Amino acid sequence: MRIDLHTHSTASDGTEAPAQVVAAAAAAGLDVVALTDHDTTAGWADAEDAARHHGIALVRGTEVSARAAGISIHLLSYLQDPAHPALAVELDRTRDARLNRARQIVELLAADVPITWDDVLAQSRDAVVVGRPHIADALVARGVVPDRDAAFAHLLASSGPYHVPHYAPDGTDAVRAIRAAGGVPVFAHPGADARGHIVPDRVFDRLAAAGLAGLEVHHRDHSPAQRARLTAIADRLGLLVTGSSDYHGDGKANRLGENLTAPEVLAAIEEQGTTKVVRP
Ligand code: AMP
Ligand code: ZN
Ligand code: FE
Ligand code: FE
Repeated sequence: MRIDLHTHSTASDGTEAPAQVVAAAAAAGLDVVALTDHDTTAGWADAEDAARHHGIALVRGTEVSARAAGISIHLLSYLQDPAHPALAVELDRTRDARLNRARQIVELLAADVPITWDDVLAQSRDAVVVGRPHIADALVARGVVPDRDAAFAHLLASSGPYHVPHYAPDGTDAVRAIRAAGGVPVFAHPGADARGHIVPDRVFDRLAAAGLAGLEVHHRDHSPAQRARLTAIADRLGLLVTGSSDYHGDGKANRLGENLTAPEVLAAIEEQGTTKVVRP
């Protein structure tokens, strides 16, 4: 069983439509794929149709933006009720904040490089969530940088002069909201220290006490040392361990199936979730 529990589509900042992501997952030989767009469930319906068509199982999820210890973190929510207000209201608020923040980033950038808000809108067409990758695509279209990676290296870096943070719920509140909505919360890439700051150990204790179910240990942004640290934390706190690609289509080098989750871990997630895995 090949199970990849973290992918993005054009509903957020991936480059392929939800149905294309599912088709690509089937073509890559996966048995199960999760669609986990940032702060939205907008891609679920198309992904579900495609999963039935291509004979692959689909886990419906969301990558929820949150904050902890002054740092931006991501929590994967699996199998939640998308209509439950506890989570839906928070996601609404985050999407609004992301939109304002993206406008602010573009305003700052426009002082120094050729870019307009319309450029970004032309790139974020189907997206219901606007992110820095769309601004990166606008910079690529303008010939300012060759690709998304180059844009993130300086102009869009979290530590850079044009960065603007956005509202996101506190991590413990987000974990509780995910659980209230019947979802299963897994901390996404918690040890990605090359991307920016990572949370200290005490945050794992707080999130676990709030209902965290697991840690995404196997992810390309994790060094062997981080995987060892996170495995030990998961053991200590009785958390599930997942692995996934964080596929963004052509927007990132991450390939479908490059990291996988064990079938018994998916079974535990499904047991805790409110909605079912869509099976062919
Ligand atoms: P945002 O959600 O707007 O803060 O933007 C962060 C998103 O950009 C994350 O989903 C990352 O996957 C993506 N990202 C971060 N670094 C890079 C990079 N070097 N190349 C492409 N995408 C990136
Ligand atoms: Zn992303
Ligand atoms: Fe993420
Ligand atoms: Fe992601």
